[in-house]
Amino acid sequence: PRVVFSGIQPTGIPHLGNYAGALRQWVQLQDQESENTKFIYSIVDLHAITTPQKPDELKQWKRESLAALLAVGIDPRRSIVFYQSSVPAHSELMWILACTASVGYLSRMTQWKQKLNIASECQLEEGSVGSRLKLGLFSYPVLQAADVLVHRASHVPVGHDQQQHLEFARECATNFNHAYGAHLVHPKTIIREYIGSNDDFGIRTPINYLFVAPVHRIMSLSDPTSKMSKSHKLARSRILITDTYEEIRGKILAALTDSAPGISYEPAKRPGISNLLSILSIFDPDQRSPEQLAQVYSTTHPRSFKETVSDAVTAGLQGIRTRYMELIDDGRYLDQVVAEGSRKARQSAEETMSIVRSATGL
Ligand code: ATP
Ligand code: MG
Repeated sequence: PRVVFSGIQPTGIPHLGNYAGALRQWVQLQDQESENTKFIYSIVDLHAITTPQKPDELKQWKRESLAALLAVGIDPRRSIVFYQSSVPAHSELMWILACTASVGYLSRMTQWKQKLNIASECQLEEGSVGSRLKLGLFSYPVLQAADVLVHRASHVPVGHDQQQHLEFARECATNFNHAYGAHLVHPKTIIREYIGSNDDFGIRTPINYLFVAPVHRIMSLSDPTSKMSKSHKLARSRILITDTYEEIRGKILAALTDSAPGISYEPAKRPGISNLLSILSIFDPDQRSPEQLAQVYSTTHPRSFKETVSDAVTAGLQGIRTRYMELIDDGRYLDQVVAEGSRKARQSAEETMSIVRSATGL
C-alpha cells in the first residue's frame, strides 16, 4: 500500500508558492486515487514554533491553514488532516531518531547555514550567535523525518526547498534500520518539473502511475531572487490564495521587474518577469510552460503583461477564495474535521510506534 504524507506550517495563509509547489499536488494525488493509497496531510504546528510565534496568532493561523487546505480541495473523507501536536508520536519518534542522527549532516543543511549566516550578520556582541540560534531550529529536520517515517510514508510531495530535508529523512531511516533492524520505510519524493527549454517533463524519482502537475518554484514579488515565503515580513512579497482582485492586482503591478521591453523567460537575467511567467503558467488552462508563454507574450508591454497575469491569478483563485470564506466561519465543521483527523493519524502513527518501541527495547 502507498502512503502519501506532506505538511505545511501554520505560519500564515498559504501563498501561490505553497499552492503551486505543494497543495495543488496534494489535491491531484488525492483525486486520482484509489483504494490502495492513504493520504495524510498535517498542519505542522510544532515546526512553526522553531521561530518565535504569538500564541493567539498561532492558534488563529492553524485554523486558517485548515480552512485553506479544505478550500483548495483536500477532502477529509479521503485524506487525513490533522494538527501535528495532537499526535505525540511525532515528537516521540523524533527523540528516538535524534539518537542515531548525525550532527555533522544536520549542520550541512542549506536552510540551517542560511540562518547561521543571518545570525552572524546581525550579531551584536562577540559570541552571541550560539545563544540566538535555538536547538529546535537546528534539529527540526529530525522532527520532519519523524513526521514522514511515523506514518510509513512511501511518497512525499514537497517543493524544491524541502528536497534536502527529505534526503535527510531517508538517512534517518537508514541509521535507525542499521541499528535496530529494517523497520522504517524509505520515503520517495514526488516532484515533476519543467526541464530544458521545451515542455519536456522530468521526473526526479520515478514513480509509476502517480501523476502530478509540474512543480513551480515561485519567487518573492519584491525580491525575485529569493523564494516566496509565508514568514517574510513584507506582505506584498506574496500573493495569498485568499487575496481579493484588488490585492492581487496591487501586488502584481508593484512587483519588481526590469525595464527591458517585451517579455522573455530568462530567470538569471530577468528574475522578476520570469517569475510572473511562472505564476501565469500555474493557471494556464493549456498547461503551457513559462518558456512557451514567453513566446506568446514576447512583444507585450510589461505593464499590460502584468494586467494579464493579475486577471489570470484572480480567475484561478476565485473558487478557492469563495470556499475559504464559507469554511472559516464554520467553526464546528473545522473542529470536527481535525478531531476525526487526529484520531486516524494517532492510529496510523501507533502502528509504527509499537514496532519501534519493541525494536529499541523501550
Ligand atoms: P515559512 O516561510 O513559514 O517557512 P513557507 O512559505 O516556506 O513558510 P512551508 O509551510 O514551509 O511554507 O512549506 C509548505 C510547502 O510549500 C513545502 O512543500 C514547500 O516546499 C512549499 N513551498 C514553500 N515555498 C514555496 C515556493 N516559493 N515555491 C514553491 N513551493 C514552495
Ligand atoms: Mg518554509
